[in-house]
Amino acid sequence: MFNLSRYFSTLSLILIGLAAGLLGLLYREVSVHQMTALAEDRNVAMAQIFENALGVPLSGLMAASVGKDASMLQESDESLEMQASVTTLMRGTAMAKVKIYNRLGVTIFSTDPTQIGESSLDNPGFKTALSGTVISDLTHRNRMDTFEGVRSDIDLLASYIPISSEGKAVEGVFELYQDVTPFMASFRHMLWIVTAVVAGVFALLYLMQLLVVRRAQGILHDQAERIEAARSTLEIQIGARTQELRRANRLLEDEVAERRQAESKLNYLAYHDPLTGLANRRYFLERLEASLSDATEKNERVAVLFIDLDQFKQVNDSLGHGVGDELLVSVAATLCEHVRLIDMLARLGGDEFICVMESVRSDEEVAMLAQEVIAAFDSPFCIGGHELFLSASVGISIFPNDGTSVGDLLRNADTAMYRAKAMGRGHFHFYTPEMTRDAQERIKIEMLLRRALDSGELSVHLQPQVEAKSGRLVGAEALVRWDSPELGSVPPARFIPLAEDSGIIITLGTWVLRETCRQVMCWKDSGFELPQVSVNLSVKQLERPEFVDTLLEILDETGIEPSRLKLEITESVVMAVDDAFSLLDRLRKIGISLALDDFGTGYSSLSYLKMLPVQQLKIDRSFVIGIGTNPEDEAIIRSVMALAQSLDFEVVAEGVETAEQAAFLSASGCHQLQGFLHGSAVAPAEFRARWASLPR
Ligand code: C2E
Ligand code: CA
Ligand code: CA
Repeated sequence: MFNLSRYFSTLSLILIGLAAGLLGLLYREVSVHQMTALAEDRNVAMAQIFENALGVPLSGLMAASVGKDASMLQESDESLEMQASVTTLMRGTAMAKVKIYNRLGVTIFSTDPTQIGESSLDNPGFKTALSGTVISDLTHRNRMDTFEGVRSDIDLLASYIPISSEGKAVEGVFELYQDVTPFMASFRHMLWIVTAVVAGVFALLYLMQLLVVRRAQGILHDQAERIEAARSTLEIQIGARTQELRRANRLLEDEVAERRQAESKLNYLAYHDPLTGLANRRYFLERLEASLSDATEKNERVAVLFIDLDQFKQVNDSLGHGVGDELLVSVAATLCEHVRLIDMLARLGGDEFICVMESVRSDEEVAMLAQEVIAAFDSPFCIGGHELFLSASVGISIFPNDGTSVGDLLRNADTAMYRAKAMGRGHFHFYTPEMTRDAQERIKIEMLLRRALDSGELSVHLQPQVEAKSGRLVGAEALVRWDSPELGSVPPARFIPLAEDSGIIITLGTWVLRETCRQVMCWKDSGFELPQVSVNLSVKQLERPEFVDTLLEILDETGIEPSRLKLEITESVVMAVDDAFSLLDRLRKIGISLALDDFGTGYSSLSYLKMLPVQQLKIDRSFVIGIGTNPEDEAIIRSVMALAQSLDFEVVAEGVETAEQAAFLSASGCHQLQGFLHGSAVAPAEFRARWASLPR
C-alpha cells in the first residue's frame, strides 16, 4: 500500500530543507547587500573627507606622480605630508587601509608605503572606478597590514571610488578598506538566530504536518481496511448471488425445456389418438379441410374412405376392453403396413378409421385402395392368446361430387360404409345419392315407428318350435311384425336395429313381451296350451335397471307361469350388461328359461358359457344353411352338440328349411328345430288353427 507518511515526510523534509536553505541564503544576501551598501556609503563619505582634507597635496601628488619612480614618490614631500594627514583622519574610524591611484593605475599613495609606485592598471576594481562608478567587494583576510599594524582574521569592505573635481574627468581612484568585522560578527550571529528560528518553525510545521498526515493516513488506512472488508463481503455476496442466479437460470432452463416438452406432448395429444398413435379426429378434420381447399385450387378430386371393423363390438363385449384396445393398436399397425397410396390415416374413435387419398385420378384407383384395406384383414390378429378373424367395411365419398365440405364428405362416407356393411363382411361401397335418401328414410321410419306403437300397427307373430325326434310342438318364438299404412309390411331386420339405435326398442320390447304373454294366456283360457313361448330381448332392455320389475309386473298382470316363458338373449349381453351373471341368475330364480340366441357367431369363451345360467343354445341359421354343402358348418354343429351335451345345454336349431337339414340335426343330437320346414312366423289365429288340432 502507498505509504503516505513516509512519502510525505521525505518530500516535505526535502522541500522544507530547500525552503529553509533558500530563505537563509536570501536573508544572507539581503543582509550582506544592505551592509555592503551601508559600508560603501561610509567609504564614499570617508573618500569625500579625504579629498576635502587633502585637496592641495593630493593634486600636487597627482601631478608629480607622472614620470617619477616609486622611491621618488615615496620620499616626496606631498607623500609624507599626506601620510601624516591621512593617519590623523583615519584614527578612531573603521578605516584599515587607504590607497590612491592616479589615472594611469599607479599607486601614488598608500598607508602601506611599500605599495607606492606599484601599477594596478589591470585591477578590475580600478577599471570600474575609472569609468566613474563606485564598486565594493567584501573579503576576509587571515592577515592584514593596517595603518595601525598587522591584524588577523579580519572582514573588510574594499571600495574603489573615483576622484573627480566638479564636472571634470576622473583624475584618480581611492581604494578604501573598511573593517566590517564587528558587522559581520553580529550578522553571523543574527544569521544563526534566524536560521535556528526558521529551522525551528519549519521543524514544528513539519512535525504538525507529519502528525496530521499520520492521522490522515490512519483514517485512510482504516477506511481502506473497511473498504477492503466491504469489498470482500461484496465479493462473497456477488459470488453467492451469481451462484444463485446460475441455479435459478438452470432451473428456468429446465422449466422451459419441461414446458416445451409438455407443450409438444400436449400438441401431440391434441392431434393424435393416444391409443394407436394415428392422427385423431381433430387432426383429420383440419388436414382434410386443407386438402379440400388445395384440391379446389388445383381442380382435383379427394377420396375419403370410412373404415369400420365388422366384429369389433363382439370382440370388445366378449373378450373385454383390454383385448379390444390391443386389437385396435394391431389393426392400426396393419393398416399402416399394408395400405399404400394413402395420404392420411386417422382414427375417429371406437373402431372407426378413416383414410384420405389426394389427387384421385380414377374411381378404380380408389377401389384398389379400398381392396387393399379389406385385404389387410385377411390374416387373423393374434391378441392375448386369441386368434381373431376380423373384416372391415369401407364406405367411400369423393370430393367434389359427393360433397364439398368436410362434414358432407364424412357423413356420406359413413353412409356408404353402412351400405357396405349391409352387403356382408369385408365389402366396400361408393357413396350414391340414394344412400342419403335411405338415411332420410331411416329417419322417417323411426318417426313412423314411434307412432306405430300407439296406433296398433305392430303385432306379434309366432313361429313354431318342434321336438327334433317327434316333430311335436314344444314352443314358439314371438317375432314382431309391423304393418305400416305408409310403408306396408316392414321386416324386423329393417326396423329393429333402428329401434335399438333410437331407444324405441325399450317400449317396443316391453310391448312384445306383454302382448306375447297376454296372447299365450288368452289361448290357455280358451283351451289352447302352448308349452313355452320365446321372446327376443335386446341388450338395451336388459341394461335398464327397471327391467326385472317390468318383467314381474307383466308376469303378475298376465298371470303367465314363469316356466312357460323363455327369453332369448345374445352373447353380447354378458359383456355389455353390468353384472350380467347376477341379473340372469335372478331371472332363473324367478323360474324363467333362458336361451342363447345366434350361437356360434360371437366370441363367447367356454369358461363364460359354463357359468352362464342358460338352458338352451340356439345354433345360428348361418351354420344350418351349410348342412349338406359345407362340411365345416357340419363340423361346427357337431362340436356345438358335443359341447352342449357336456355342459348340459338343450340345443335348438333355427332356420331349418329342408328335411335333410332336419335329419342331420336330429342325428347330431339337436333337441328342437325351428324354421320354415315346420312353419314361418304367423299371426296367432293362424298359428292356433295350424297347431291346435295336432296331438301334442
Ligand atoms: P332371430 O331372433 O334370429 O329370429 C329368427 C329370424 O329368422 C326371424 O326373422 C324369422 O322369421 C327368420 N326365420 C325363421 N325360420 C327361418 C328359415 O327357415 N329360413 C329363413 N330364411 N329365415 C327364418 P325376423 O322375424 O325377420 O326377425 C329378424 C330378427 O329380428 C330376429 O332374429 C330378432 O333378432 C329380431 N326380432 C324380431 N322380433 C323381435 C322382438 O320382438 N324383439 C327383439 N328384440 N328382436 C326381435
Ligand atoms: Ca330369436
Ligand atoms: Ca336367431
